Amino acid sequence: MRALILGGTAEGREVAKQLVVRGWHVTSSLAGRVDNPRLPVGEVRIGGFGGPAGLATWLIDNGVEVVIDATHPFAERISISAAEAARATGIPLLALHRPEWKPQARDKWIPVSSMAEAAQIAAREFHHIFLTIGRQQLTPFAADPHNLYVIRTVEPPHTPLPARHRIIQSRGPFTVADEKKLMRGNQIDCLVTKNSGGAMTEAKLIAARELGIPVIMVQRPALPTVATIVHSPEEVIAALH
Ligand code: NAP
Repeated sequence: MRALILGGTAEGREVAKQLVVRGWHVTSSLAGRVDNPRLPVGEVRIGGFGGPAGLATWLIDNGVEVVIDATHPFAERISISAAEAARATGIPLLALHRPEWKPQARDKWIPVSSMAEAAQIAAREFHHIFLTIGRQQLTPFAADPHNLYVIRTVEPPHTPLPARHRIIQSRGPFTVADEKKLMRGNQIDCLVTKNSGGAMTEAKLIAARELGIPVIMVQRPALPTVATIVHSPEEVIAALH
């Protein structure tokens, strides 16, 4: 069987591994946002398809029999493309939706629906703000001339930044002890994160809980409706068999 995995996530790499072991012909697709991406096993292609029509053409040209959308929950446009291309071609689509993080006892979450809202609250209520939102949506925070922003990204940011900032270039996973050390060392009084879910980046939430630090939690965008939604790589494999 031939599968296209829309990836860029740990789950995408895991699905690729599981399918290659089972003898599938797998191509994983990455957007090309980072210079040294972690590569899955099997074939890899890098770069956009040119919207839903470009993806549909690619699927037909490459004889793809099933598409697995294992992209990040905040990667909205590629998921819309996948849904539209699957509809147009009739090729089955499986969407892997990683479960959201849920607040636990002692968590001080401030849920927001956009990065602009997160930036307004951060600037108004806090002083030493830890941003773990990637590098593409930093602009709303750039308007704050007063407070300190500790910005952790995998690649250096190229967008406007707040006047007072520290960049930490680093790629997870991180331990709870590391995260506590970073938060204490920078006198962090607020963490801003997207509700990505998953174990790989959860340590910062545990550290914030244990240190009593509020978390501005950006809620997920609505993803397109697709026929088959699963929640883990194991469920992808089960659904395909
Ligand atoms: P996005 O806004 O949904 O996508 C923007 C455009 O990038 C898409 O329209 C598509 O271009 C191209 N693209 C995105 N993912 C692709 C993929 N896997 N293969 C080929 N083309 C892709 O996505 P994003 O938020 O920029 O994220 C880009 C990638 O990084 C995703 O694959 C995602 O899994 C990964 N990622 C994202 C985040 C996040 O917070 N957003 C975090 C971790 C990893 P065309 O329209 O030209 O096809």
